Amino acid sequence: MSKKSVVILGSGNAALCAGIAALEAGANTTILEKAHAAEAGGNSRYTAGAMRFAYSSRDEILALLRDPSDSRLQDTEFGAYPKEKFTADMLHFNEGRSLSDLQHRLIDKSYETMVWLTTHNIRFDPIYSRQTFEKNGKYVFWGGLTLESKGEGVGLIDAEMQEFDRLGGHIRYQADCRALLVENGAVVGVQFETPAGSEALGCDSVVLACGGFEASTELRRRMLGERWARAMVRGTPHNTGAGLTMAQKAGAQLFGKLDGCHAVPMDRHMPNYGNQAIPFIERKNYRKICYFLGVMLNADGRRFVDEGQNFRNYTYAQFGRAILEQPGSFAWQVFDQKVASLLYDEYRFRFASSVEAGTLEELVHLLDGVDGASALKTMQEFNEAVDETLAFDPSSLDGRRTQGLAIDKTNWANRLDTPPFRAYPVICGITFTYAGVKIDLSAAVLDQSGAPIPGLYACGEMVGGIFFDGYPGGSGLTSGAVFGRLAGQSAAER
Ligand SMILES: Cc1cc2nc3c(=O)[nH]c(=O)nc-3n(C[C@H](O)[C@H](O)[C@H](O)COP(=O)(O)OP(=O)(O)OC[C@H]3O[C@@H](n4cnc5c(N)ncnc54)[C@H](O)[C@@H]3O)c2cc1C
Repeated sequence: MSKKSVVILGSGNAALCAGIAALEAGANTTILEKAHAAEAGGNSRYTAGAMRFAYSSRDEILALLRDPSDSRLQDTEFGAYPKEKFTADMLHFNEGRSLSDLQHRLIDKSYETMVWLTTHNIRFDPIYSRQTFEKNGKYVFWGGLTLESKGEGVGLIDAEMQEFDRLGGHIRYQADCRALLVENGAVVGVQFETPAGSEALGCDSVVLACGGFEASTELRRRMLGERWARAMVRGTPHNTGAGLTMAQKAGAQLFGKLDGCHAVPMDRHMPNYGNQAIPFIERKNYRKICYFLGVMLNADGRRFVDEGQNFRNYTYAQFGRAILEQPGSFAWQVFDQKVASLLYDEYRFRFASSVEAGTLEELVHLLDGVDGASALKTMQEFNEAVDETLAFDPSSLDGRRTQGLAIDKTNWANRLDTPPFRAYPVICGITFTYAGVKIDLSAAVLDQSGAPIPGLYACGEMVGGIFFDGYPGGSGLTSGAVFGRLAGQSAAER
């Protein structure tokens, strides 16, 4: 029997997992990537490589590690992140829906897929710098997120590309896919533009893995709302919704939270796409997500969220939107010296914008665009409202809170009383969009009637209905890996 041929659109984590799985299943596999080689890998290359998965024991973590002899491991408490907790975390963001079969599949296959990745030479390190706090001489993990790929997103994509290549996959860069070729209702190939002109490639199955529409200002406006034109784009410039447009033309159903997206507090002076002149590994550092250690003030000098509502893994993807909705769409994060050593490296990033002062009175004059008198009053009232009965413990939901404010801070509330005071200006950076095509449990794309479109599969950001009102941090790469692997297998076996 002749080999099946699979064409995959995109070269991010979802595409490469699909490619590796299709090759494993014996298909001739080609990736078509819009970007040139240096900008390939999509949003996945920009990531910290953090992946969320269910695990029940320390041994399950150790089995995934690049360096099981790391001396810190003996003093590390990984705890456990059972499927029940992952389920509860997903339910929290599901706007009252029960979990769909796809969401259950993400959770159920999360650990197995991590193991599968290790069989393909992808290795993981504990995220000591951002997911642990030291407690009684131990590194204590919090928030259900423990591992990142070696070398973060750059390392992940490089390792997956190497594996795809080793297994015999082909990749074409600067292949900007524009249309799916359809015959008798089945997808039979792709038309794409190259610097040399238009081309078509026939195949048995196509896997769409070409991201969402966050990099299209026009689609952001239309789908998310007018103010989203102002959001900065954190990742690749290439995810402009072409996959969704092509799929819809081929009859696919648009599905999920149509106006939903992942958006994060970012440096107010960040360039779009995180400054392409600097290495990928640095670009994520425009992010500013330690608000849980201080307070956030808007232009009116007021707080507008409970900064300590939950571990930041569960709030950061929503707080970008909260900032966008403030007057002028910006805010300032304020910290005192007590927490300075707990701030992530991104606050020491060479391009981080900040101001510093010896008193709160001096600081408010430096907060560009803010009503200083109101900001001072807010911070003074905040200080008076902090209840210090419970001890501050950033590795747990410590319950140390304010009492009696219009918006209380319900964990990690510390008085702003130790100079110097530092403040960081932030805006909304969009990460990726939640709407996408509807797939079934074989990753086949469904049409308006709910029937699979023969020959068409999808994975990664292209899939709708995985995330609704938010996102437990680290689930995007896991979703890409779980459904990428599935899409690759299904496409090869069709
Ligand atoms: C700064 C940043 C940090 C992040 N950190 C994390 C993290 O630590 N953990 C986590 O789980 N998630 C993280 N995310 C989210 C994560 O990046 C996504 O969930 C995931 O990478 C999506 O993978 P994907 O393969 O679906 O899409 P992508 O990786 O974006 O790949 C899509 C690819 O399709 C290509 N493409 C687009 N249009 C076409 C076309 N017409 N023809 C051909 N190719 C096309 C693009 O060039 C791109 O290469 C982060 C995102 C950003 C931006």
